[in-house]
Amino acid sequence: MTLPTNPAKIAVIGCGTAGPAAAILLRKQGHHVELFERAPECRAVGAGFLLQPSGMAVLRELGILDAILARAAKVKRLNIVHPDGRSLLDLHYGEIHPDLFGAGLHRPVLLEQLIAAMRSTGVHIHWGMEITDARRSHGKWEILTPNETVASGFDLLIIADGARSKLRDLASTNSINRGYPWGAHWFIGRNDGAFPEDELYQIVRGTRNLSGFLATGLGHANGDRLVSLFWSVRIADDQTWRQNPLDSWKQEILNLCPKAKGLLDQIHSWDQVLLARYGDVRMRRWHGDDIVVLGDAAHAMSPQLGQGVNLALADASCLARCLSEQPIPRALNLYQRRRRLNLWYYQLSTRWLTPWFQSDHEWLTPFRSLFFTITRHLPPARRFMTKTMAGLVFSKTPLPTKNGAG
Ligand SMILES: Cc1cc2nc3c(=O)[nH]c(=O)nc-3n(C[C@H](O)[C@H](O)[C@H](O)COP(=O)(O)OP(=O)(O)OC[C@H]3O[C@@H](n4cnc5c(N)ncnc54)[C@H](O)[C@@H]3O)c2cc1C
Repeated sequence: MTLPTNPAKIAVIGCGTAGPAAAILLRKQGHHVELFERAPECRAVGAGFLLQPSGMAVLRELGILDAILARAAKVKRLNIVHPDGRSLLDLHYGEIHPDLFGAGLHRPVLLEQLIAAMRSTGVHIHWGMEITDARRSHGKWEILTPNETVASGFDLLIIADGARSKLRDLASTNSINRGYPWGAHWFIGRNDGAFPEDELYQIVRGTRNLSGFLATGLGHANGDRLVSLFWSVRIADDQTWRQNPLDSWKQEILNLCPKAKGLLDQIHSWDQVLLARYGDVRMRRWHGDDIVVLGDAAHAMSPQLGQGVNLALADASCLARCLSEQPIPRALNLYQRRRRLNLWYYQLSTRWLTPWFQSDHEWLTPFRSLFFTITRHLPPARRFMTKTMAGLVFSKTPLPTKNGAG
């Protein structure tokens, strides 16, 4: 641990991805870091997600990449097809660099490693504490729950409480938070060899039907190889679906993807099918006086490009670097400048892409086919799309190239 000349007292709100990653990196710099999380303890919940090379670079910095890759599926390709099997989009990480890949992961695997790293570096974690407000007192931050001030004297407050943040406006009053009308039903089950371990496989029909299958690596608690199912759904239709027999929902998915049968057979009740909502958060500025907002709290987006975890990790890494170079007020300005381009690009392209895959705008379907047919045959355009998928556009993170995954 390198001790800064002036170790700061730092509070982090939220133990998802951005919060713990920032806490570890800042603790490693010698700062005193306390993290506040509303959940009572580490929860073995969460969907599968695709870790990108950009996120892997940060996990390497945190010293937990190898342990995480040992439980991941090594994903080499994004393969999107029409129901009749014709290819819509087929992107291979190897087109950018032969050693590049994505990692299909069960979320608790990442969280467990982040928590272990927080404990070993000496981050003080407060579980079961929902922070509802914070205020300035004598130039420092105080942290509040509904009934009391729980901690005070913080030089820097890091808000990482996710897409539905109630605290982001402490940093800036100009935030916009819009829920998408579409989300996803999701389920994680045993793969049993039904889906290739090395791809994210999606089947699309028009803009209203999308089904995705992500190899998710080894389970959190046992050795089964998992696969995550995502099924696009209009949020307003969720309750109607749940009043119908489960079999009619399963049939819709089977119509698109017959090989999902074994996975769907593992679902016996609607309680096993969870609903993911997406939001679109925009902030003109991600920081105020000695306060900064990271991850989904600052820039939530639909998971169409699968970047949320990776951007949250990149935020944490960038903030830590800025704080190692400058005192807090200047470091926060520097952070804003350094993150602006990368976040602008991913927010814009996600917003642009989402209606092509999840919306009522069926008229977009032929334009989508035309666009992807053209770009598929133009190697520079295809490589740029692959680079976008890998999280590497306007990103300065060095590439991990030497690791393998399970
Ligand atoms: C269906 C779906 C699929 C996705 N797939 C991918 C993918 O493939 N790849 C990818 O990179 N991203 C994916 N994402 C996005 C990704 O999950 C998020 O972008 C990422 O989790 C953001 O991390 P975060 O730390 O900012 O917030 P979160 O992970 O949401 O963590 C916020 C934490 O703050 C805590 N908290 C909230 N309020 C308070 C409070 N008041 N006080 C104390 N604690 C609080 C919460 O309990 C939580 O632990 C997907 C999202 C969805 C919905």
